[in-house]
Amino acid sequence: MNDDHNPLYADACENCPTYDVFPESALRDGAEGIIAGYRCPNCRHVWTCGWRIVPGRAIPPEPTPDSPIFNRHVTARIHEQAAIARARKHLSRPDPDAA
Ligand SMILES: [Zn+2]
Repeated sequence: MNDDHNPLYADACENCPTYDVFPESALRDGAEGIIAGYRCPNCRHVWTCGWRIVPGRAIPPEPTPDSPIFNRHVTARIHEQAAIARARKHLSRPDPDAA
Protein backbone atom coordinates (compact mmCIF):
# COMPACT_ATOMS: atom_id res chain seq x y z
CA MET A 1 0.00 0.00 0.00
CA ASN A 2 1.62 3.21 -1.16
CA ASP A 3 -1.44 5.43 -1.15
CA ASP A 4 -0.91 6.82 2.34
CA HIS A 5 -0.18 10.46 1.60
CA ASN A 6 0.99 11.21 5.10
CA PRO A 7 3.05 8.22 6.17
CA LEU A 8 5.04 10.12 8.78
CA TYR A 9 2.32 12.09 10.57
CA ALA A 10 3.54 15.35 9.09
CA ASP A 11 1.71 18.49 10.16
CA ALA A 12 1.67 22.13 9.11
CA CYS A 13 3.07 24.94 11.22
CA GLU A 14 0.28 27.24 12.38
CA ASN A 15 2.70 30.08 12.98
CA CYS A 16 4.17 30.38 9.49
CA PRO A 17 3.25 28.77 6.18
CA THR A 18 5.45 25.71 6.48
CA TYR A 19 3.94 22.38 5.51
CA ASP A 20 5.18 18.86 5.95
CA VAL A 21 6.88 19.38 9.27
CA PHE A 22 7.72 15.92 10.54
CA PRO A 23 7.35 14.96 14.17
CA GLU A 24 10.52 15.04 16.19
CA SER A 25 9.18 12.56 18.68
CA ALA A 26 5.92 11.17 19.95
CA LEU A 27 4.34 9.85 23.08
CA ARG A 28 1.90 6.97 23.07
CA ASP A 29 -1.61 8.09 23.94
CA GLY A 30 -3.45 5.00 25.00
CA ALA A 31 -3.56 1.96 22.76
CA GLU A 32 -4.70 3.68 19.58
CA GLY A 33 -3.13 7.11 19.55
CA ILE A 34 0.03 9.11 19.68
CA ILE A 35 0.79 12.70 20.57
CA ALA A 36 3.42 13.85 18.13
CA GLY A 37 5.73 16.74 18.92
CA TYR A 38 6.82 19.14 16.19
CA ARG A 39 9.36 21.90 15.87
CA CYS A 40 9.09 24.21 12.89
CA PRO A 41 12.41 24.39 11.02
CA ASN A 42 11.66 27.98 10.00
CA CYS A 43 10.23 29.79 12.99
CA ARG A 44 11.10 27.35 15.83
CA HIS A 45 7.47 27.20 16.84
CA VAL A 46 6.79 23.99 18.76
CA TRP A 47 3.48 22.24 19.02
CA THR A 48 1.91 18.87 19.51
CA CYS A 49 -0.78 17.06 17.60
CA GLY A 50 -2.78 14.01 18.54
CA TRP A 51 -3.16 11.25 15.97
CA ARG A 52 -4.94 7.98 15.80
CA ILE A 53 -2.30 5.38 14.98
CA VAL A 54 -2.52 4.31 11.35
CA PRO A 55 -1.34 0.72 10.80
CA GLY A 56 1.81 0.63 8.70
CA ARG A 57 2.97 4.11 9.58
CA ALA A 58 6.26 4.48 11.38
CA ILE A 59 5.76 5.81 14.89
CA PRO A 60 8.16 8.63 15.76
CA PRO A 61 10.70 7.91 18.50
CA GLU A 62 9.91 8.50 22.14
CA PRO A 63 11.04 11.94 23.32
CA THR A 64 14.08 12.24 25.49
CA PRO A 65 13.43 13.53 29.01
CA ASP A 66 15.00 16.87 28.13
CA SER A 67 13.16 17.26 24.84
CA PRO A 68 12.36 20.94 24.36
CA ILE A 69 8.97 20.05 22.93
CA PHE A 70 7.73 17.80 25.67
CA ASN A 71 8.43 20.18 28.49
CA ARG A 72 6.31 20.25 31.58
CA HIS A 73 3.70 22.50 30.01
CA VAL A 74 3.24 20.26 27.01
CA THR A 75 3.28 17.12 29.09
CA ALA A 76 0.43 18.57 31.12
CA ARG A 77 -1.45 19.25 27.90
CA ILE A 78 -0.87 15.71 26.73
CA HIS A 79 -2.35 14.35 29.91
CA GLU A 80 -5.28 16.71 29.48
CA GLN A 81 -5.81 15.58 25.89
CA ALA A 82 -5.60 11.95 26.95
CA ALA A 83 -8.22 12.61 29.60
CA ILE A 84 -10.46 14.31 27.03
CA ALA A 85 -10.01 11.36 24.69
CA ARG A 86 -11.00 8.97 27.46
CA ALA A 87 -14.02 11.09 28.28
CA ARG A 88 -15.07 11.16 24.63
CA LYS A 89 -14.79 7.40 24.44
CA HIS A 90 -16.89 7.16 27.55
CA LEU A 91 -19.53 9.55 26.21
CA SER A 92 -19.67 7.83 22.84
CA ARG A 93 -20.77 4.53 24.31
CA PRO A 94 -24.21 3.56 23.04
CA ASP A 95 -26.97 4.91 25.20
CA PRO A 96 -29.04 1.92 26.36
CA ASP A 97 -32.12 4.17 26.56
CA ALA A 98 -31.82 5.38 22.97
CA ALA A 99 -34.49 4.13 20.64
ZN1 LIG B 1 6.75 27.91 11.55
